[in-house]
Parts: sequence; structure tokens; C-alpha cells
Amino acid sequence: MLSGPSGVGKSTVVKMLRTHHPEVWISVSATTRFPRPGEIDGVHYWFIGRAEFERRAAAGEFLEWAEFDDNLYGTPLAPVAARLALGESVLLEIDLQGARQVRERLPAARLVFLKPPSWGELVRRLTERHTEPPEVVERRLAAARRELAAEPEFDYALMNSDVPQVCQQLVALLRSPHQASEA
Ligand code: 5GP
Repeated sequence: MLSGPSGVGKSTVVKMLRTHHPEVWISVSATTRFPRPGEIDGVHYWFIGRAEFERRAAAGEFLEWAEFDDNLYGTPLAPVAARLALGESVLLEIDLQGARQVRERLPAARLVFLKPPSWGELVRRLTERHTEPPEVVERRLAAARRELAAEPEFDYALMNSDVPQVCQQLVALLRSPHQASEA
């Protein structure tokens, strides 16, 4: 499971995995957030309304879910359970609150923390993304500061200074989670 602060580059890593490692099965989350330009329903997220999200959450249809920056995000349980039942690895890209819930429900899950090369670099990435208004960037930076402090809760920490390298490390972990070197 891949987690780490907003802006650290989780979605860039996942994008590269989708392109270069189609054998890696990546969970598609549901969210109440509006799609960003280029995001496709069913590929990047399932974009659903809040009422529908809440209905699914109440029905236990999510492995985990969390509120992040006024929007709800959740991992649909059924597709993940089906893969795990086949003994196959799954990759979840989720925030820290979700990672903690998965740790409770699936103690064998490996938690990977993606960290920025530096705080300055994270600020740069969040501000230069230009996809969110300044007040949203501010809130995400505050969340990032809290999330960075959670690194010791994770099984592995990978520094995102080179995206292809991080992808290789993740693929290695997914193939052989217990033999890869711990951070
Ligand atoms: P964004 O809006 O930038 O796509 O995502 C915001 C945050 O929500 C990111 O930290 C992302 O990892 C997290 N996120 C995406 N999908 C899920 C999910 O299914 N569950 C949880 N808990 N967090 C998610």
C-alpha cells in the first residue's frame, strides 16, 4: 500500500506503474471530489456523489475510507478481496488515515511511505501543480506536515527523487514483500 503526503508524487508513480507495469493491479478508489482535467471515471477514480458514497460506506462496501480536504475517498472492497483471494498482490494509493485502517483490517499488508526529497521540494510540487486554489494548497501543506511525521508507522520508506526507480522498488516489493530491504 502506497501512502505519503499530498503532493509527494504518489499519483505520478502510480501513473508510471500503469503504463510500464500493467501486471500490477492498482485499486481504483471512489471519491466525491470533482475530476481534474484528464481524469477518467473508472480509471483514475470512480467519481460519485456524496449520498452514494455514504450509502456505500454504510453498506460496508469499502475496505477503508477517509475524508480528505472536504472530500470522501474510499477503496472498494470487493475487487481487492477478489484479488487477494487469488493470492495476488494489490496496490492501494491512499492517504494516511486509510493506511491506518487497512493496517487494522489486513495486518499482513505492507505499508510503503513515499517521502519527498525535502520539505522545500514538497512545497514546490504542491504549489506548482496549479490544480488547486491557494487555500486548498495551504490546507494540503498543513496535512502534509502532519503526514510526514507518520513515517515510523510504515514498513518501508521510499524517497521519491527518481520516479522510475521508485516504481522498480515498488514492483520488487509487490513481488517479494518480505525479502525487499526495509527502510
Ligand atoms: P487527490 O485528490 O489528490 O487525488 O487525493 C487526495 C488524497 O487522497 C491523496 O493523499 C490520495 O492518496 C488519497 N486517496 C486517494 N484514494 C484514496 C482512498 O481510496 N482512500 C483513502 N483513504 N485515501 C485516498
